[in-house]
Amino acid sequence: MALPYNHHYKLSLSSLFSGKPNSSRLQPICCLQCNSSVSSSPFTEKHSLQRYLRDRWVYDNNQQLSLNNDDHAASCSIPPDTDSIRVNDIALQLPELRKLLQVLKHKRESCGGQVSRNGPGNVFLVGTGPGDPDLLTVKAVRVIQNADLLLYDRLVSNAVLDLVGPDARLLYVGKTAGYHSRTQEEIHELLLSFAEAGATVVRLKGGDPLVFGRGGEEMDFLQQQGIQVKVIPGITAASGIAAELGIPLTHRGVANSVRFLTGHSRKGGTDPLFVAENAADPDSTLVVYMGLSTLPSLALKLIHHGLPPDTPAAAVERGTTPQQRMVFAEVKDLADKIKMAELVSPTLIIIGKVVALSPFWRQSLKEESCLVEA
Ligand code: SAH
Repeated sequence: MALPYNHHYKLSLSSLFSGKPNSSRLQPICCLQCNSSVSSSPFTEKHSLQRYLRDRWVYDNNQQLSLNNDDHAASCSIPPDTDSIRVNDIALQLPELRKLLQVLKHKRESCGGQVSRNGPGNVFLVGTGPGDPDLLTVKAVRVIQNADLLLYDRLVSNAVLDLVGPDARLLYVGKTAGYHSRTQEEIHELLLSFAEAGATVVRLKGGDPLVFGRGGEEMDFLQQQGIQVKVIPGITAASGIAAELGIPLTHRGVANSVRFLTGHSRKGGTDPLFVAENAADPDSTLVVYMGLSTLPSLALKLIHHGLPPDTPAAAVERGTTPQQRMVFAEVKDLADKIKMAELVSPTLIIIGKVVALSPFWRQSLKEESCLVEA
């Protein structure tokens, strides 16, 4: 009998491996002992090893997908030190995915000797917000829980990944400092292949997928290949973090507009892409994404083009998570204070008079130290 397909049909990958619907979760065939310390970061950059281990798909010597089998544990050949596991895990994922894809295709094409006429699966581009899982939309939670395969990157917090259903497969496609990361083309191919094989594929993106998230490119590519893409918006870092800090991004008589800028430079230099003369408006709020390295240059340009040097500003690392750290300063001093506090990515910068409306701003003025722990 052909595998039934409609938009609501949940294709369970583990049931494909076992031939039984909703069978127990596919487990790795060996348990690796590793000494990775659990970092305090809620983001996946530090936790990805644990994720890789959970989602590692291990094959036996015959290159067959293996179900949980303790007999194989002793023959596990992956070296037990953390770095090798990480490298192996990243490197191994693509071939394993190809195998999985073959299994999926085979099951769909010839079920009981009949050729299936099933349509392609759905791809959902889902915004996960800035980190706090309570900021997910109800729609996002529903889609995450029903996915077969989820691709995620560094900005998706672990609390969000914990919502993923037990039968689903998680694939890290982000950049881990110093390690191989997926190219945009590889991600496109993966999304397409799995959608064509009928899976419900979810591409998780931090914040909103269509705000500095390259979501538009993935959507465009898939739509050109005839795959339907549904976008589920997320709370972008600017909104989530402004709410957390009590900063109104617009405020009658204080800021009549808000601008989201990228701090990225054109060729990896220190000059922000944005032309500062357009942005140096004291009656507007500026929110700078990815702006840590180019802030010194941006701040100078803004001041040069007329933004008062004493304009209030804030930088927020890992906003909306328990590890949130904030720095408040006038725009002329912000870069130095960020350096002193050693803020790292992801950090969002908010510049404008509205920052002074935050209760944390008043608190920071009182405190000798400019670093305010949440
Ligand atoms: N699509 C995302 C933005 C991706 S660009 C969104 O809509 O929010 C990545 C940048 O977003 C980071 O460099 C940082 O500037 C900002 N960012 C995202 N999440 C953040 C967080 N939790 N805390 C601080 N900055 C964050």
